[in-house]
Amino acid sequence: MTQFKTLDDLPADLTGKVALVRVDLNLPMDGGSASDVTRVEAARPTILELADKGAKVLLLAHFGRPKGKRHSTMSTSMVQGDVEEVLDREIMFVPEVSGPVVEQSIGILGDGDIGLLDNVRFWPGEEANDGEFAKAIAAHGDVYVNDAFSAAHRAHASTEGLAHLLPAYAGRAMEAELKALDAALGNPETPVAAVVGGAKVSSKLDVLTNLVGKVQHLIIGGGMANTFLAARGVDVGKSLCEHDLTDTANKIMDQADHAGCTIHLPYDVVVAKEFAANPSSLRTCNVHEVGADEMILDIGPQAVEALADVLKTCRTLVWNGPLGAFETAPFDEATVALAKTAAALTQDGSLVSVAGGGDTVAALAHAGVKDDFTFVSTAGGAFLEWMEGKDLPGVAALS
Ligand code: ADP
Ligand code: MG
Repeated sequence: MTQFKTLDDLPADLTGKVALVRVDLNLPMDGGSASDVTRVEAARPTILELADKGAKVLLLAHFGRPKGKRHSTMSTSMVQGDVEEVLDREIMFVPEVSGPVVEQSIGILGDGDIGLLDNVRFWPGEEANDGEFAKAIAAHGDVYVNDAFSAAHRAHASTEGLAHLLPAYAGRAMEAELKALDAALGNPETPVAAVVGGAKVSSKLDVLTNLVGKVQHLIIGGGMANTFLAARGVDVGKSLCEHDLTDTANKIMDQADHAGCTIHLPYDVVVAKEFAANPSSLRTCNVHEVGADEMILDIGPQAVEALADVLKTCRTLVWNGPLGAFETAPFDEATVALAKTAAALTQDGSLVSVAGGGDTVAALAHAGVKDDFTFVSTAGGAFLEWMEGKDLPGVAALS
């Protein structure tokens, strides 16, 4: 695993120091306040630990996509109230990220106080990872702490550039994420199973290619299973299927064979003639019995049972993508059932389970097992790039 410093490597007393802390405050908004403050809660331990050590903490974050210009609706001041509520402390909004206004604000802040800098993406130097821009920000800090794994796949000034200019540390959320990901794919206990589901093979080609070389069992579900079934000569009817990718699917299956990775495709599936909740045409059948006017919307109960048996033989599981169109009943059944099995094995101590992806997190929450997995990443793009085996610039820069 990439070696990185954590808050444990900082002196116990940070009085008189300024900590620049990159956090994820890109909160979903509902009118004037956030509809979900999970990201602030994730950053809370890091922010309070630094403040309680006496540092003046300056929060650095992006909010929306202002593309290098100021927009009043995309100021981080929009979330100041939400941050104060989660931290249970007053914080000072600073409408800049560098220069005299920041300097004066630091003068006003007391030891252990927290300031919130404005949206770092208001300046084009952020996304360009401009050296001068990063230097202007770094001039205000003594240490840099990155607690935003979700932004670590971007090589921006606040996620990458600053780490080269100041002593750099992983925050607590970043540290937990990196340790969990390392336990899942970096240095896992074997056998490892991966579940890859979701709508399309095309969006997860790099994920599949990386995983066949790393895991012993690759479980394919969701719409992408249809493309693999079609590649094996199965008639998938009206199912979501990328017929132009069947050669690619065959190539992945060959690679898996060579690498000693078993690919698991469903034997039975849940089909319907129309995509609606509890349609009258609903039925379960063998994959070879799908009608020309039917679509596969979930994997079947026999498949789920077989997959549960696979998980019972494994020590590690990494999961991205639902097994069916889980937003619509009853096409959530396979995802819910297998998620419950994984959660129970995790709670028994026989499985390390790590999951991520926007819809995957929603599906696990729907199954009621989000807290029973070893780790659930809410990092979206960064999580997928990590599953693709890519080096994340924000993580690499910490080492
Ligand atoms: P994540 O956000 O976790 O990475 P994806 O975005 O790749 O996951 O995929 C989730 C979507 O895939 C869901 O909206 C789900 O309805 C859809 N899906 C899963 N299985 C099927 C299927 N058999 N047919 C159509 N859509 C499906
Ligand atoms: Mg998605």
